[in-house]
Amino acid sequence: MENLNLYDVLGVGKDATDEEIKKNYRKLAKEFHPDKNPDAGEKFKEISFAYEVLSDPEKRRIYDRYGLKGLQEGADGFSDSSDFFAQWFPFGGAGGGRSKREGQIVIKLDLTLEEIYVGSMEKTVDYKRHRLCNACNGEGGPKEGRVSCEACGGMGRAAAFTFMGLSAFDALCPTCEGRGYTIKEDMRCSTCRGSGFIEERKKRQVEIECGVPHMLKMPFPGEGHQLRNGEYGDLIVVVVQADHSVFMRRNSQLYMRDLEINITEALCGYVHCFKHLDGRNICMRTQPGEVLHHNHIKILRSEGMPVYNKPAEKGDLYVKFKVTFPENNFATSTQLTMLEELLPPRERINVPAGAEEVDLMDFKPRTSHPEDDEEHGQSPHYESVQCQTA
Ligand SMILES: [Zn+2]
Ligand SMILES: [Zn+2]
Repeated sequence: MENLNLYDVLGVGKDATDEEIKKNYRKLAKEFHPDKNPDAGEKFKEISFAYEVLSDPEKRRIYDRYGLKGLQEGADGFSDSSDFFAQWFPFGGAGGGRSKREGQIVIKLDLTLEEIYVGSMEKTVDYKRHRLCNACNGEGGPKEGRVSCEACGGMGRAAAFTFMGLSAFDALCPTCEGRGYTIKEDMRCSTCRGSGFIEERKKRQVEIECGVPHMLKMPFPGEGHQLRNGEYGDLIVVVVQADHSVFMRRNSQLYMRDLEINITEALCGYVHCFKHLDGRNICMRTQPGEVLHHNHIKILRSEGMPVYNKPAEKGDLYVKFKVTFPENNFATSTQLTMLEELLPPRERINVPAGAEEVDLMDFKPRTSHPEDDEEHGQSPHYESVQCQTA
């Protein structure tokens, strides 16, 4: 399993395009969906996980360079995220023995780009944690009700399966949850049904500073699950920045998605107004006489994201223009003659005697199937994550 090849899982080559990855994922996800194929649950999780990594350029880059280990250990932007990464793993069993053992809870906090831009707000996350049962002091029942656990022979440990190098050799026995014994059915504590733990709902206020980075982990020590020994694990809140319809963000830089302008605007002058993330109306305009080229990039200084921890500083906003041309036959030949007088002269070509004339055909790139574009839902990763949404 450690050598699991994510490209093989999706049945694509290493140089597969995003389209191919998406297409194969959809095909396989349909085939192995637990609704249709209840026995293929693990396979489905593998497929979801492979797609989660390969459909994200950043994760795919890390995987290509460092393999699964790189994702796990957190090369580049994932440093110190191994705990969170563990949460992505497409398994985790019922309740996640791992997180209970360490008592750690990882939850995500979804933020819009607007919220991150403005900052200075409190958000409430809502989660469940295990706490020792008061009724039985976490014992689950009286001592005389204990029977040695058959599943692990009283060891409390079980050899769990290993996945992608994440060993679970010493996983807690799922039957007795590590205690090595269970409580006779008729003597179990009625509050916790013999487990010694009850579940409690917790709320936590989280302060959002402006410019907070995507995937930032905010630890809250001692606010996770309570352990059998009475100690508490940590709560980790992970910032997850939502996609935005207008802007893309890279740290403190903002990129406006391609702005389409027509040739008249490109040549004769262009004005564009938009609402910024804090609600300000911003207008940009070209100077008189200025020409905007196709793929022209302009910078709006200090209109990017606030710099994290330096709220007074802001990054820049980049805007790329896409020039659209008119349709065929948009003007009569007389009009074209007039237009030509204004535009730079054409190159005069001497056609060599006997030259062959060829037809120019329009090239149409293969377009994706319409069905590939349906179901543009959330990435599958959060469906398989054992974490709660705030
Ligand atoms: Zn056991
Ligand atoms: Zn109890």
